[in-house]
Amino acid sequence: LYPNDNGPMGKELRLRQQYFFSSASLQDLVHHYVNTVGTDFSKFHEYHVIQLNDTHPVVAIPELMRILLDEYNVGWDDAWNVVTKTFAYTNHTILAEALEKWPIDVFQRLLPRVYQIIEEINRRLVIELRQKFPEDYYNQNHMAIIHDGKVYMAWLAIHAGFSVNGVAALHTELLKTQELKNWYALYPEKFNNKTNGVTQRRWLLSSNPELAEFITKRIGHGWEKELSLLKGLEKYVDDEASINELIAIKRHNKEKLAEYLKHTQNEFLDPESIFDTQVKRLHEYKRQLLNVLHIMYEYNRIVEDPNYNPPAHTYIFGAKAASGYRRAKAIIKLINAVADRVNNDRRVRGKLRVVFVENYRVSVAEKIIPASDVSEQISTAGYEASGTSNMKFMMNGALTIGTLDGANIEIVEEAGEENAFIFGLKADEIIKMKSEHSYNPQKYLDRNPQLAKVVNQLVDGTYDPSGMLFKEIHDSIVYGVEGQPADVFFLLADFDSYCQAQEKIAKEYADQKTWARKCLMNIANSGKFSSDRTIEDYVKDIWKLKKVTVK
Ligand SMILES: *Cc1c(COP(=O)(O)O)cnc(C)c1O
Repeated sequence: LYPNDNGPMGKELRLRQQYFFSSASLQDLVHHYVNTVGTDFSKFHEYHVIQLNDTHPVVAIPELMRILLDEYNVGWDDAWNVVTKTFAYTNHTILAEALEKWPIDVFQRLLPRVYQIIEEINRRLVIELRQKFPEDYYNQNHMAIIHDGKVYMAWLAIHAGFSVNGVAALHTELLKTQELKNWYALYPEKFNNKTNGVTQRRWLLSSNPELAEFITKRIGHGWEKELSLLKGLEKYVDDEASINELIAIKRHNKEKLAEYLKHTQNEFLDPESIFDTQVKRLHEYKRQLLNVLHIMYEYNRIVEDPNYNPPAHTYIFGAKAASGYRRAKAIIKLINAVADRVNNDRRVRGKLRVVFVENYRVSVAEKIIPASDVSEQISTAGYEASGTSNMKFMMNGALTIGTLDGANIEIVEEAGEENAFIFGLKADEIIKMKSEHSYNPQKYLDRNPQLAKVVNQLVDGTYDPSGMLFKEIHDSIVYGVEGQPADVFFLLADFDSYCQAQEKIAKEYADQKTWARKCLMNIANSGKFSSDRTIEDYVKDIWKLKKVTVK
């Protein structure tokens, strides 16, 4: 199942699946241990670490307790000793609504014995909480694994595991100081960071063979297994022939993508134009809507000012919405409505084009990313735990337009801020405005008539004759809907700054050589973002494995 990640869940089938896979894995692992080591479980953790990849398999914690207690007659304290040395937890999001919570009645009906064990774990935790936070009744209640009629799976993982990690430096800091600060106060030694990575075997060698060959011709083989070697490309930034070859490779990848989209959805793309790409799940925090509002603004500007002659720009989108996420689907509809309007207006022909790529998936990402000039990473600061497409784009020589969010911060640290287009409010500024309730989106509409016009065009018939299709999107920005305040993702606050970053892109793209040098600096400094480095960090800091040489 691909569930909604934006709203409450309570689907029994999902819990059944989680239990099925977790229990099957544990049974396999315990049988193997019993057959090779025996039924003395005191050394179990020396042979096994179980890395809980998000909250989905956290039911494995009480399930291992159940197997040890009920099937091998281990006592509670010995079983708990095994469990707390075996499990480690990776947190993947700060969106509170995405942390799984199960209604007690669903859990109890489906897994009565496992629920009983969670109750006992919780009873002992609450005693610990009373000692650690005397008279702090909020913490005592809120940190309990069972409260308010629900089972909090993340709390269970943090309490029972020996390690809690975030997936980018900023994300881990926000866990420690914001979302999980009470848990950090209780267990500071458990918290650590493991910045995500992607594999260069898929995202360079396989998906961009021409760039892979360009690299190997200059630094030889070895980077396929040790990506930090890409640093050796830096010395070619002033080599004319290398820069020209890099430009030619990008050009050829753009032609191949244009050919593919002609063939698959009869879209015409101009490889001369800037390929400016935002491909990722559709979610309001990722702010595809900010990108669209800027395109609407740019469209108005070209139509209204005959002297305005920006370089040709193709905006490429790819996104799926979770099945029940109505507003995400409306945003996809809006992107397509804007594409329809813009692509059929002679006044902007050759200057502006919008393409929505259908059925976005890894095999399509492998074609789009090597062909992109600009990587859109524009989430509201503090909301994107890490991001990984930002890394894929970086190693394929696309320049990032982005906020200081998730791994973007580390990307810019590695590549240099002069080789990216950074804009917008920072995470601490967003946090402050939220806590003080000081954000007034109306101020930005009053101050910028072009922005006000674009927002009004969501409902004035420009993109939908009925004026109704995009009304909820409009109202969510201007008034707030469903009890939420207006513009919860700060689109209007960041709009000006985003436009300025886009103007800078238009200006700098005109100088192809300087642009390509920046692309090369990004490629050369993308070594940190190999998943080999990530896994090595897990091996050293959490799993404590010794290396085995493979002959
Ligand atoms: C890498 C990848 C993602 C993740 O993208 P983000 O921009 O980091 O959210 C999502 N979908 C596909 C198909 C990908 O290849």
